[in-house]
Order: sequence, then structure tokens, then C-alpha cells
Amino acid sequence: MPESNLMVVKECGPGWDKLIDPIIKLCEDDGAEILQIKEKFGGLRFYVHNPSPIIELEIKEAERLSYKTCEVCGEPGLLYGGSWLKTLCKEHAGKATLTTKLKKEENNG
Ligand SMILES: [Zn+2]
Repeated sequence: MPESNLMVVKECGPGWDKLIDPIIKLCEDDGAEILQIKEKFGGLRFYVHNPSPIIELEIKEAERLSYKTCEVCGEPGLLYGGSWLKTLCKEHAGKATLTTKLKKEENNG
């Protein structure tokens, strides 16, 4: 496995490990170099140099799932915040409020 991937720092909470780790494994098997793993606007961003189509697909799926997964603990989560955005479960959201968009969706559901 490329040594560089072992040095990759996850710039996001441990709740997303289960989304991230299978992709790191895929990249290692494929010899693809991971550039960056981070949280942005409440969602996962996973950057790989020259990803294979499979890795690209898996990353898209993980990024989609990250918006439903608490970044802290991995439990089902929702997008919270106003000027900042974080995907959190009820417990870790504390007093934070849901984003307007998702609040509406929750009321409908
Ligand atoms: Zn949580």
C-alpha cells in the first residue's frame, strides 16, 4: 500500500470513519493516492488523485451518506446550523437548530 495514504489526516469527526475507512482500503488496493479527507458545509469531502470509476462512485455515495450520519458518533444525523453547518444526531446537536431546508422536510415526513 502507498505509504502516503497512511499519513492521511482525517479532518472530520470519528463518526464518519465507517464511511471513510472502506474507501481508504479501496484506494490502497488500487494504489490511488488520497489527497485530502475533510468536512465542508456539513458533508464529507474525499479527494483522491486519479480515482478509478469504482472509487469515484464510492466517494459519491459516502459523501451523500455523510449528510445523514452524525460526524461525532456515526448515529443517524441531520444537518444543523446557520452560519456553520454540521451533520449531527440529536444528542450531539444539543441546542443547535436544524437548517431551514431540513426542518421543512422533517415536518413533511
Ligand atoms: Zn452523535
